[in-house]
Amino acid sequence: MTELTKTLELKLVDPNAHKRRKLRETREAYQHALQDAFNQNCTTQTEANDVVVNYDLSGYAKNALKKYVPQLTTTYNAGELQDDHPVRFTNEGIRFDHKPENAIEWYVKIPHHEDYHLWMPAQPNPEQRDWLEAVNAGDAKMGESQLFERDGTWYLHVTATRDVGERSEMSAEKLTPIGVDIGEASLVTVCHRDDHGSPTAPELWADEGKTVRRLRKTYFTATRRLQTRGSERIAESFGDDLWNQIDDMFHRVTREVVVYAESVENPVLVLEDLTYIRESMDYGEYMNRRLHGWGFAKLHAQIRYKAVEKGIPVETANPRHTSKECHVCGEVGYRPRQATFTCTNDACWMGEYQADVNGAINITDRYLSGESHSREHENDDDSAEDGGRLTAPQDSHADAKTQQETRGTYAS
Ligand SMILES: [Zn+2]
Repeated sequence: MTELTKTLELKLVDPNAHKRRKLRETREAYQHALQDAFNQNCTTQTEANDVVVNYDLSGYAKNALKKYVPQLTTTYNAGELQDDHPVRFTNEGIRFDHKPENAIEWYVKIPHHEDYHLWMPAQPNPEQRDWLEAVNAGDAKMGESQLFERDGTWYLHVTATRDVGERSEMSAEKLTPIGVDIGEASLVTVCHRDDHGSPTAPELWADEGKTVRRLRKTYFTATRRLQTRGSERIAESFGDDLWNQIDDMFHRVTREVVVYAESVENPVLVLEDLTYIRESMDYGEYMNRRLHGWGFAKLHAQIRYKAVEKGIPVETANPRHTSKECHVCGEVGYRPRQATFTCTNDACWMGEYQADVNGAINITDRYLSGESHSREHENDDDSAEDGGRLTAPQDSHADAKTQQETRGTYAS
């Protein structure tokens, strides 16, 4: 096991005037306390504590200052303070919450005064979704965080650390690809080919697909009813409970996917590339699937970080027609029923096949044909990619507009 550390970048989404004022108050108090402790040349945590304790700040900011000021005065021997220091908080100060049903899915708790904090919607860097899922599940540890404003936009950067398993240096040809299909009928389907190239050991999480559909339906019906009655608060706590149930199930399923991979010799998990999903699907297929974009992104992110924990490589493949082509002859077929794929090629021996397994094998074969790529090298690229758009339901015009406004840079 080795430890991997990363700075998670979040942009705070359109704070209202009240919240902006609170953020500025925190920053002002923090900077005054910092300046004060610096001017008094505090070289120990105790000295710094005696100064910062008088300021109207949360304990998380004060504790961060106690550590930071002696570093400035002793280690760096700074003559004067640069202005524009980010507000630092110790690790316990920040909390995340995930509401996949909202256009802005992530919420972050930011300390303000001693007993007062702000919950704010935040847009994370979509490339770091696996990290957020890990933090949210308690599988990554948070370190110090920094709050700052740039060009009128507020950002929060959070340091996070997680364990990464040893990865064997196996050449790509020797790896056994396992296709992971995320779908409607079966929530997740995995399959791979044996030494002779025959599809083997398909595993389907079909009951879970049913349960998720039922929970989502319950959620949307019930919250609509509660909202029309004006019970926003009840609707929200009801929603939290249902989404937590879904998230728990997602975590169990993604753990089991990784256990499946561990049972295969030299495995590589192959996921559909979310960034291609929209452009490679026809309209109907896209409309169908985009409603479940949050599910795709969440499951992918959880599989990603859990696989990496076990040292299992993850690759992505172009998802074009993976659910529509016959895995034997490549002909585009059709689905007479949700769970059945029918090949229309008379010369093909395959008549009907389980549709999700057919999809999973096609994903497996994309890796074998070289139509896949590792995302590893892109990880350092901070640009927001299309994948981010698919992480939230985009059911209304208003949502789409919010998405427009909140995409973009993740200042670092
Ligand atoms: Zn066929």
